[in-house]
Amino acid sequence: MNPKIYIIGGGAAGIFGAINTKIHFPMAEIVVLEKSSKLLSKVKVSGGGRCNVTHACFENSQLVKFYPRGNKSLRKPFNQFSTQETVDWFEKRGVKLKTEEDGRIFPTSNNSQTIIDCLLQECEKLGISINKSVGVESISVVNERFQIHVKGGQFFKADRILIATGGQSKAQAYDWLSQLNHHIKDPVPSLFTFNVPDSDFKDLAGISVPHAQVKILGSKLNDCGPLLITHWGFSGPAVLKLSAWGARELHLRDYNFSIHINWLGEVSEEGLKDQLLQFKKEHPKKVISSNPLFDLPRRLWARLVDTALISNEKRWVDISKKQFNKLIEGLIRSEFKVKGKTTFKEEFVTCGGISLKDINLQTMESKKQPGIFFAGEVLDVDGVTGGFNFQHAWTSAFIASKNILAPD
Ligand SMILES: Cc1cc2nc3c(=O)[nH]c(=O)nc-3n(C[C@H](O)[C@H](O)[C@H](O)COP(=O)(O)OP(=O)(O)OC[C@H]3O[C@@H](n4cnc5c(N)ncnc54)[C@H](O)[C@@H]3O)c2cc1C
Repeated sequence: MNPKIYIIGGGAAGIFGAINTKIHFPMAEIVVLEKSSKLLSKVKVSGGGRCNVTHACFENSQLVKFYPRGNKSLRKPFNQFSTQETVDWFEKRGVKLKTEEDGRIFPTSNNSQTIIDCLLQECEKLGISINKSVGVESISVVNERFQIHVKGGQFFKADRILIATGGQSKAQAYDWLSQLNHHIKDPVPSLFTFNVPDSDFKDLAGISVPHAQVKILGSKLNDCGPLLITHWGFSGPAVLKLSAWGARELHLRDYNFSIHINWLGEVSEEGLKDQLLQFKKEHPKKVISSNPLFDLPRRLWARLVDTALISNEKRWVDISKKQFNKLIEGLIRSEFKVKGKTTFKEEFVTCGGISLKDINLQTMESKKQPGIFFAGEVLDVDGVTGGFNFQHAWTSAFIASKNILAPD
């Protein structure tokens, strides 16, 4: 009899896993079980509807640095299937891709449907069975084979299983996987923006700086990058990266903490002082508030000058020592109280899931239940924004597909 492989979850990892399993093992019968009535629903809405498929980072030692959970342990998987392999895989199937200035890779169509069409056409071509609206509730092991129990009391017999059920917000959603002896790292959200209800900067919403540094007080967490002022607080890559690296710690603090913003990036106090003194010497007659420095947006500069209690008409020659020091403070240490978080364009991922200690990262097979494999966000792996989460889904699914029927 041909081996029967069940793929649980019809998202990016599940569908990519199903296709590649059939390619590696054409004699196997592949069945996908998807809980909802739709396949690849996150792919559809991803990247603002454009699907940021992967990232133009072709050095695995650099790539792993974009994964707060996973990190160096992802080197083994990426050495088998990485960003270049993703690009080749899709291009080989006629999907044209383009790289944007910041490294994010999208289909040239700017439409996530292109990726969905490619994946679903492959499923059809390869004769993969897809069952929608079938939610798996538990798995039992019977004589080295598996029984998959689904909602409604039905069960299916499987020789091998790939679990690709994605991230879940509630710990109970992983109960059926912990019943198979897997250790679950508690799920908490990652990739969110900071709410600052008492911010004096809200009316500057829409203004961004290309390279700010954000530090979370009372922790070692800090990150640099573009920063955006929003109606509710702060967003942009600097904040999103921090939310990912600090996902657990910030959850423990119930999203109540203070931040310091250095609007100039990593510029030090001493360095800044020297630059301002030099400017004062060279342009004593210039009015401070109407002549922004360091390429800061005009309105942001004016607000920082105002916060330092420097009047609108004041010239550099007339600035007091107190005002000078306060301006420096505002430029490199503006303090804000964060109270709560907001999802960034609805793009969020789960920090937590199946502990990587339970997984053989060379094959993606469970060490607790041989014959069961895992891929995608169900694992305790998540990346920052930029195409890294899909890259992990493709990588882990590809590796599982290659090994799912390999001899022991
Ligand atoms: C709005 C949004 C935009 C995003 N944009 C990007 C982007 O542009 N680039 C990027 O890299 N990442 C992006 N991400 C993250 C990315 O979408 C996920 O990391 C990725 O989809 C994970 O793939 P997955 O297959 O592991 O999980 P999912 O895509 O979540 O798929 C899991 C599937 O399993 C099904 N399932 C769950 N439980 C069961 C069960 N018990 N039985 C049967 N089926 C089950 C679910 O219904 C779902 O269809 C975005 C996320 C969101 C929310």
